[in-house]
Amino acid sequence: ELPSITGHVKFENLVFEYEPGRPALKGINIEAEAGQSIALVGHTGSGKSTIMNLLCRFYDPVEGRVLIDGTDIREVTIQSLRSQVGIVLQDTFIFSGTIRDNIRFGRLDATDEEVEMAAKAVHAHDFILGLPQGYDTEVQERGNVLSMGQRQLISFARALLADPRILILDEATASIDTETELKIQEALKTLLAGRTSFIVAHRLSTIRGADKIIVLDHGRVMESGNHEEL
Ligand code: ATP
Ligand code: MG
Repeated sequence: ELPSITGHVKFENLVFEYEPGRPALKGINIEAEAGQSIALVGHTGSGKSTIMNLLCRFYDPVEGRVLIDGTDIREVTIQSLRSQVGIVLQDTFIFSGTIRDNIRFGRLDATDEEVEMAAKAVHAHDFILGLPQGYDTEVQERGNVLSMGQRQLISFARALLADPRILILDEATASIDTETELKIQEALKTLLAGRTSFIVAHRLSTIRGADKIIVLDHGRVMESGNHEEL
């Protein structure tokens, strides 16, 4: 179990390969203090998503370990890990069902009030009320009721409601209109407050806001520091 963790995360000498002899990570050391926001940047194929895959235990490392509050994540149940590590992916996952169900995903016990509070906090409430049936509007997995930006805000509301100590965010690269973009930036601040976060960052605004920027190249950390230092 991971009882009431603070959210300190350490990637210790991580080595990983998807295919024998082709290492995707070649000895990664990254430390995040509880509550820090870490931006991961680097070219395509540099290993950003792979590090996040290991934190989620979608794979286990070949060498090294991932520690949360000093505990190797291989020593805790997957269920316990999932409750503490939230993930917001680039291709925001919307399933067929109501907006309310989509936000409650992962917190099925949440009340309507809690759902609305989460939506308000990430500035999604107003556009939801503007939909034909508000929170009861049915959306489809691949439907176009929601714009990309709106999908992102729904996924932020979902993550906020789930309230994990550690949050992984693979920032969308899709172009989003300026108004939604500003809402997303605001929402992101709310979502990250008080959590340890790892953001695969594409937006300069996100990178600037991070406590630490990790520059990856071919499975290695090339540079790290904050925006002023780099
Ligand atoms: P991007 O910016 O394109 O998302 P990334 O930094 O997230 O790139 P990774 O997805 O971590 O990069 O990939 C690191 C290396 O591992 C690359 O060489 C990639 O081809 C390889 N790789 C990633 N996923 C797999 C997989 N499922 N099977 C085999 N090789 C993989
Ligand atoms: Mg990736």
